[in-house]
Amino acid sequence: MSANALDRDVVTVRDVRHFYHKGGSSDLLVLDHVDLTLHDNEIVSLLGRSGSGKSTLLRIIAGLMPASEGRVAIRERLVSGPAPDVAMVFQSFALFPWLTVLDNVEIGLEAQGVPAPERRRRALAAIDLIGLDGFESAYPKELSGGMRQRVGLARALVVHPAVLLMDEPFSALDVLTAETLRTDLLDLWCEGRMPIRAMLLVTHNIEEAVLMSDRILVFSSNPGRVIAEIKVTLPQPRNRLDPAFRQIVDDIYARMTARAVGNAPKEGGFPGTGIGMILPHVSTNLLAGLMETLSGPPYDGRADLPALASALQMEVDELFPIAETLQLLRFAEVEGGDIHLTDAARRFATGGVDERKRLFAQNLMAYVPAVSHIRRILDDRPSHKAPRARFQDELEDFMSPEFADRTLHAVISWARYGEVFAYDEGAGVFSLENPS
Ligand code: ADP
Ligand code: MG
Repeated sequence: MSANALDRDVVTVRDVRHFYHKGGSSDLLVLDHVDLTLHDNEIVSLLGRSGSGKSTLLRIIAGLMPASEGRVAIRERLVSGPAPDVAMVFQSFALFPWLTVLDNVEIGLEAQGVPAPERRRRALAAIDLIGLDGFESAYPKELSGGMRQRVGLARALVVHPAVLLMDEPFSALDVLTAETLRTDLLDLWCEGRMPIRAMLLVTHNIEEAVLMSDRILVFSSNPGRVIAEIKVTLPQPRNRLDPAFRQIVDDIYARMTARAVGNAPKEGGFPGTGIGMILPHVSTNLLAGLMETLSGPPYDGRADLPALASALQMEVDELFPIAETLQLLRFAEVEGGDIHLTDAARRFATGGVDERKRLFAQNLMAYVPAVSHIRRILDDRPSHKAPRARFQDELEDFMSPEFADRTLHAVISWARYGEVFAYDEGAGVFSLENPS
């Protein structure tokens, strides 16, 4: 890398891996060989589902925690401890309730030892910039969510960081407030009024990434790593309805589902194999609901995922696990950003309660190894009972306790619906009590 290239780079992340230690034998690998670079004058989005390690990566870049392996530099200086050139905005507003807006904004400068008059001047400038004029002496509880997030932004900008890291900054806001704040931020950025060099935005919202970024890094889950990079060259301000905009959104959807299909055709693409497969907790209501929706008009069994998401007002995080669970159960196939129902799903959608349970049980037993495994053990035991701990331990040979918990939770709710086996929450015991 030439000296020039380094000059332009505001943030460099090289070969970062991160494990969380999970008491017990299995560490949870959340980031694997993550590389990314933020150039001067760039907005980059990190787009990934929840749990993919995005917040972990931001905390590492900000120097709030060390990576297990790899290195991070801000303007060529290696990060080791809280980085002074970095400011962060969080999803929840993290304001001090007992301080006024002005004091909340100034506090970042106090830590840096900036003298009082200078602090005041810069805090007022940041408050003005971000549209909080007149609210200087208000307390956080007197402000709306949108205004509180503006205080968070002012507090980050007041230190004039080289890079602003934003962790899902709009996702706790209502739709209109979020849109206004995004537009205001972009206006300030495009007018060159933000006292920063680059922004890294973490989001699970594809449209938000396409609206705001010069580049989008698609982040995979389990473990998190950058699997695709998309440059967005559309001029600002961007229009969601512009066909070129839609095309980029479509393309990202396809990439985000491609991995699942490529890795494990028709298997939903969940990490792990056999009983070690990590399953998402998707309710049977959602699974049934999506099959019903897709089987009726206007879809007639097939839909474009982005169009479906926007029709159902869902985000990637919500729609993908449902689509992938249907794929695992062979009720759907997901390919190239499209989903289509299988014959079994069409029968499910038009069937009565008993037919639905029968179809669901049949595919659960055939395609979810953890379910057939538990059922076989219950069948074999004279008591037809087994404690949860037995399966929890087995799953923990393949995954972290947290994932084992989540996977069992999914298995229990699906098996209950299909009446494959029962589970007594209080006693923590699986049994064949209800099923015939
Ligand atoms: P994201 O921001 O993409 O939702 P996170 O970085 O918050 O993802 O989390 C990634 C994974 O690491 C998740 O499975 C989460 O449960 C786990 N995790 C996050 N923080 C910790 C922690 N302090 N200790 C153990 N596991 C954690
Ligand atoms: Mg997060």
